[in-house]
Amino acid sequence: MVEAVQIPVERIKDSKLPQVDFKNLGFGKYFSDHMLEADYVNGEWSSVKIRPYQQLGFLPALSVLHYSQTIFEGQKAHKDENGNIHIFRPHENWKRMNRSAERMAMPQVPEEIFIDGMKQLIELDKNFIPSGYDESLYIRPFLFASEETLGVKEANSYKFLIITGPVGSYFSAPARIYVEETFTRAAPGGTGAAKTGGNYAASLLSSAEAKKQGYDQVLWMDAIEHKYVQEVGAMNIFFIIGDKIITPDLTDGTILGGITRLSLIEMFKDAGHEVEERKISIDEIIDAYKNGQLKEVFGAGTAATISHVKELKYKDFVMELDVDSMTISADMKKNF
Ligand SMILES: *Cc1c(COP(=O)(O)O)cnc(C)c1O
Repeated sequence: MVEAVQIPVERIKDSKLPQVDFKNLGFGKYFSDHMLEADYVNGEWSSVKIRPYQQLGFLPALSVLHYSQTIFEGQKAHKDENGNIHIFRPHENWKRMNRSAERMAMPQVPEEIFIDGMKQLIELDKNFIPSGYDESLYIRPFLFASEETLGVKEANSYKFLIITGPVGSYFSAPARIYVEETFTRAAPGGTGAAKTGGNYAASLLSSAEAKKQGYDQVLWMDAIEHKYVQEVGAMNIFFIIGDKIITPDLTDGTILGGITRLSLIEMFKDAGHEVEERKISIDEIIDAYKNGQLKEVFGAGTAATISHVKELKYKDFVMELDVDSMTISADMKKNF
């Protein structure tokens, strides 16, 4: 890869590569040697650098700790048989980060920092990219308010970082999911379409309760009528009813527009399938199930790509799904 602008690099003295157990990577356990760091102060980006992955110094008044002005991305890089590095659709993540930034009153991250900086960082740490089937280098760009103040206002300084680490094949056992009726994730006018930490913080109580009841995740419903399905945890949701592929549309700003979702819609259409982006109610799903028309249900996100749903529970009604017959999505998963 050729870089437009070289970002100054402080190299690590002793690589941590020998400490990585490539046979047992897991997720979010190992971090590569270096990180990219940039500061935004008084309207300008400065001190862009790559240095060893290390602690950050800050004071207790760091504003993100109090008011959660923070956004992130999640993406992957792979190495092919010839050792070439491929980052999956990085411009889509860059654009989404800047849409999140706009909603959270944060500065835009320039392409030279997000894209070119990411490429330079990954080139430097390319030995951390695993080459096994389904393994990848997970990339986590994030931006947070770094001003030290308790004043409630958008910050005047921010820190942008990219950290990376090798991750293993994400074993996505077919999921058991229940429809969340009490809590909601996002309402029109809220922050549901932004990839911001607060959305996750607000969801943890529900996922903890789901786990207690033996479920893996919850399916969120719309906040007004509790009738239309939105998404699951860190995944968008798809249903195949009859021969139509249906996924909730993004128009009311309550759903995070996944890059996996976007890619799947394009690929399903290219493969000749009919794809509908529209509101879909839980009643429509239950009716389809009762009529034998609910063929496939799956989540879509960077970590698992496609994650099949084997059980969907709404109130006392349990829908059991035959994952082995979900061939359309299983075939599509092979392309990732
Ligand atoms: C990141 C995320 C997704 C999936 O997006 P991808 O770009 O496909 O990884 C879906 N929902 C939420 C809430 C997310 O944060």
